[in-house]
Amino acid sequence: MKQLSLVLLLAVSAVFAQSASAQKFALPKLPYAYNALEPYIDAQTMEIHHSKHHQAYTNNLNKVWAEKEYGDFDLEELMLQAPRRGDAFRNNSGGFYNHSLFWEILAPNASQTLTPAFEAAVKAQYTSVDSLKKLLTQAASSRFGSGWAWLIVTVDGKLAVTSTANQDNPIMDVAEVRGVPILAIDVWEHAYYLKYQNKRADYLGAIWKVLDWSVVSSKYAAALGSPLLKMIEKDGWKELNAYHKMMASTFHPAEDGDFKPIKERSKEFVEAARLLNMSIIPKSFNTPEVKKTLADILKGTEEVHKLVTKKAKDAAILERLTKLHDTFHIVQGLCKH
Ligand code: MN
Repeated sequence: MKQLSLVLLLAVSAVFAQSASAQKFALPKLPYAYNALEPYIDAQTMEIHHSKHHQAYTNNLNKVWAEKEYGDFDLEELMLQAPRRGDAFRNNSGGFYNHSLFWEILAPNASQTLTPAFEAAVKAQYTSVDSLKKLLTQAASSRFGSGWAWLIVTVDGKLAVTSTANQDNPIMDVAEVRGVPILAIDVWEHAYYLKYQNKRADYLGAIWKVLDWSVVSSKYAAALGSPLLKMIEKDGWKELNAYHKMMASTFHPAEDGDFKPIKERSKEFVEAARLLNMSIIPKSFNTPEVKKTLADILKGTEEVHKLVTKKAKDAAILERLTKLHDTFHIVQGLCKH
């Protein structure tokens, strides 16, 4: 009997150990020691920043991820519309993602060499690396309160300097300028206060000594043509988002036998389909196939509306709506959340 309970205890603890290690996100290991960035960033700041602050964002992201049952969803994809997923998701997804990037672009003996392609892009837009640094310093010093300064690749393949508040980032739809981040500067006081106290400018002067431009160069190359850049581009297509919302709030209830939303809103639905057809299609999506699909969507939405107005059977409405939903997802991609 004793032996059996021991076996059970072992089995139970194995399950717990497994669920603990099955956490979706783990605190990334620093590729250098806590004191490696001295004297520019001190060891104590690095240790607290990484092992306490970043760890807390990681833990809290795992918690909210489990609560919301996001499972295998993609972090970056969910971050696109972080605010509507609640403050816990918005703050902790950003906190996790932003710091992960920050550690990567810092290094002892940081390389000051840019790849030719990245250097050409910097010079074309900012004339020199030094003037880019000035703009980034300005963005970082003028960010009121806590936040981040960024160098990003925008959906048109250009570079942009921007900043965000708190743990927001340029992937999120709340950002003033959106794009794929390739360089991040943390301007929360926890990033510099122990060594620099209130002198944010001194911290910003020192950070260039440990900022690795070869890493930023690789981030630049990876960002151009990345799936994330396309996701941001599509997320900025407002008419598509509006139609998607309308589809979700009518089709999904109908699937569950509730036809009230589609019957009440079918006219509005047609209006959303018209606006979608008149919208400016983002460059990467402007193909004959997408154009044809948008026309099919309008036709299908009109047919659903017609069925509703002539009081067709629910089954007939659902059948046409299901077909329309399939057509819509040629453009939208699979609806996972
Ligand atoms: Mn921080």
